Amino acid sequence: MNSRYAQQIKLSEFGVSGQEKLSNARVLCVGMGGLGSALSAYLAGAGVGTLGLVDDDCVDLSNLQRQTLYRSRQLGQNKAFAAAAELNALNPEIQIKVYSERLSQQNLNTMLADYDVIADGSDNFQTRYLLHDACFTLGKPYVYASASAYEGYCSLFHGQQAPCLRCIFPNPSTGSSCSDEGVLGVLPGILGLIQASEVIKWIVGLGETLAGRLLRVDVKTMRFKELTLTKDPSCPLCSQRSGITALFDPSHFALHFEELATFIKEHNALLIDVRNPEEHAAINIGGRLLPLHELPSRLDELEKQQTIVLYCKAGPRSIKALQLLQEAGFSSLRYLKGGVSELSQQQILQCEPQV
Ligand SMILES: [Zn+2]
Repeated sequence: MNSRYAQQIKLSEFGVSGQEKLSNARVLCVGMGGLGSALSAYLAGAGVGTLGLVDDDCVDLSNLQRQTLYRSRQLGQNKAFAAAAELNALNPEIQIKVYSERLSQQNLNTMLADYDVIADGSDNFQTRYLLHDACFTLGKPYVYASASAYEGYCSLFHGQQAPCLRCIFPNPSTGSSCSDEGVLGVLPGILGLIQASEVIKWIVGLGETLAGRLLRVDVKTMRFKELTLTKDPSCPLCSQRSGITALFDPSHFALHFEELATFIKEHNALLIDVRNPEEHAAINIGGRLLPLHELPSRLDELEKQQTIVLYCKAGPRSIKALQLLQEAGFSSLRYLKGGVSELSQQQILQCEPQV
């Protein structure tokens, strides 16, 4: 580790291991406006290893009052590209991926698949709910913030047992976004920094996040208020058990055998066989043996931030294990579609030395 991160590495409860967690982390920042500017700059500075930046908009003169990443010379440039240039200059040691397109139902799952934490800096209800609902379904932590006029909010939503955004605001309202109501320039900056703190704390496993709490910031009175969140029994997204099951679509997590080796290498993923010891002994593609029935009692052997790929004979057991891990708070999970039964002898032999 170089001196770039010295001031945080020397912190108690952070240390070299905290820095390593940051450098292995992948964070998607959706919306590169006022929130995204502050958020991404601090995440880049802190050394988050991979940052994805999503924005289809261009830098406008009216943005510069609050979107501090941009310079007057960048007017007219796509925000995600312009931001990447600045963040690269700030920290050339991290990877930055640019998505200069609007988040939609079509590109959503592909985009989210590669990230451990999703930070929402979008300024419209459609994107916010699309993103939140997808994170809920995929079990990814969703760091929410919004800022309008003199008032902003921040929270962290994660896990299907926890209250979700729709428990507080059930439906996208047709209300204003920050461009029509106006906003004091510092406000999205303050909220973006709170968001960045939440992302960093979540990755490092530090302190107490805003999960289960909604923070309200009033910049006019400079009062910070906190609301304890509870699950709404009539929430359109998370209330009924049946609703959740219907929302769980295993195809979001499926990995084909052809993608396996590259995926494991790129994500430094842990491969786990959830079959029984006899089945593992008979034929396996490597990885650790952790039978499905033992998983609930052996969760403490696994790291919640670790990317995990599960496999079994045909798929159902690894899907069960995936749901179990997801409910326990694991966020980066995949399973081998079709299981080992679909593999040829040659495929099995070829992957043994790699894992
Ligand atoms: Zn809910």
